[in-house]
Amino acid sequence: MTTTQEPDDLFAMPGIKRPAPRGGFPEREIYPQVAYQIVHDELLLDGVARMNLATFCTTWVDDQARRLMDESLDKNIVDKDEYPQTAELEQRCVHMLADLWHSPDPMSTLGTSTTGSSEAAMLGGLAAKFRWRKRGGRGLPNFVCGPVQVCWEKFARYFDVEIRQIPLRGNHFTMHPDDIAAHVDENTIMVVPTFGQTFTGLFEDVQGISRALDDIQAKTGLDIPIHVDAASGGFLAPFTAPDIVWDFRLPRVKSINASGHKTGLAPLGAGWAIWRSAEDLPEELVFNVDYLGGNMPTFNLNFSRPGGQAITQYYDFIRLGRTGYRRVQSAIYAAGQHLAKGLTDIGPFDLIHAADPDKGITAVSWRLNGDQNFNLYDLSDRLRTRGWLIAAYPLPADRDNETIMRAVLRHGFTLDQADLLLDDVKRGLRQLDAHPMQTSLTREDAGGFTHNATPAVSHEEIVARVKAAAGKAKS
Ligand SMILES: *Cc1c(COP(=O)(O)O)cnc(C)c1O
Repeated sequence: MTTTQEPDDLFAMPGIKRPAPRGGFPEREIYPQVAYQIVHDELLLDGVARMNLATFCTTWVDDQARRLMDESLDKNIVDKDEYPQTAELEQRCVHMLADLWHSPDPMSTLGTSTTGSSEAAMLGGLAAKFRWRKRGGRGLPNFVCGPVQVCWEKFARYFDVEIRQIPLRGNHFTMHPDDIAAHVDENTIMVVPTFGQTFTGLFEDVQGISRALDDIQAKTGLDIPIHVDAASGGFLAPFTAPDIVWDFRLPRVKSINASGHKTGLAPLGAGWAIWRSAEDLPEELVFNVDYLGGNMPTFNLNFSRPGGQAITQYYDFIRLGRTGYRRVQSAIYAAGQHLAKGLTDIGPFDLIHAADPDKGITAVSWRLNGDQNFNLYDLSDRLRTRGWLIAAYPLPADRDNETIMRAVLRHGFTLDQADLLLDDVKRGLRQLDAHPMQTSLTREDAGGFTHNATPAVSHEEIVARVKAAAGKAKS
């Protein structure tokens, strides 16, 4: 028998009748189901992750992977004493990757899971910096690269290393091996080719770069190692283009990073850093943690981290194996090629990368051919009204006067979705033709997420924006 008149409808409960707390720390508690509903409903305004073709990251996992993630929600990967099997599965993944990437002795080399390629890149860069120092390197260290993901600009700034980015020249989209000699000196700690560029999806020529460094060594004596940023390519080429030599088959390649949570198919928060051999990871970076009477080397920027990502990555590896990965990645490439052909048929586009497994990752990138009465920011905006998030952005220097568009296709992207997207591209173009823009959108209007470094914003501007946002939150 109820004695009070408690309202039982969720949306009539106290707590949901007031606006959600936004600014100051909330004073009062509310029921968990009310708090859940508020948060859940607010997130309805987020984009649909699987329609976000700007991201490289996993947006579909199977039920078993979800279950493993759920079951390992409370496992801290750093706690190797308490969760020795989590540590064991992580180590198995390290050896499997060392094998996949042709380390000379996969079972004895070192590597670690990370939160993503960014952390793995920092570790690879730091190892190169320490090796250079140990060889007697003095002064300001530098590294040489082509157009890179923003994590390398972070590495440079956070760890005081000069980044020497080779500008794009002529009709090239990737770093040209011939350009390297002019950028290296005795303080060059490494060259970083990107195996699956962020901007276009194209592979850089790691083997060509390695040969160029061989020539440089023959002429000058400088022995410069390579770290390969294989964020996306590391889980593609071994299955779909095994003849491309980009990995530890090249003796100059000392370390590789890849994102388990991109083409590795693991859930968000999974990355890997693997060294060619144990000697390539300087001991200063390794902290030995006592563990079940033994010693466990750890080398990470973080301490506590969730264990589910490495666990689920291991599940992916044993579930799919080489044949499974080949099948999954080939299907994505096929959907990408279908999209590329459709875009070519529609007309006003030049394809830069058409999801060719021998040339790049599971992505399609294109630009406008000739002068049109709209730009790619306008098209991106039209597609957004249908829920597609597709990035438009300028190329890196010295081709930054050219705008391109890129769709990254991932596990779960089907031929049918490609057709739906193509219909929406056609619809967008018809709309732009029927209602030409008075003034086209700019990169700033279009916003969007490209993984590339954004143009520098002054500190004053950032503070002003934060203050304006805080003002809005209060009112
Ligand atoms: C995504 C990406 C990164 C950063 O990786 P995260 O896993 O997002 O930290 C670095 N390099 C390249 C080439 C990438 O595509």
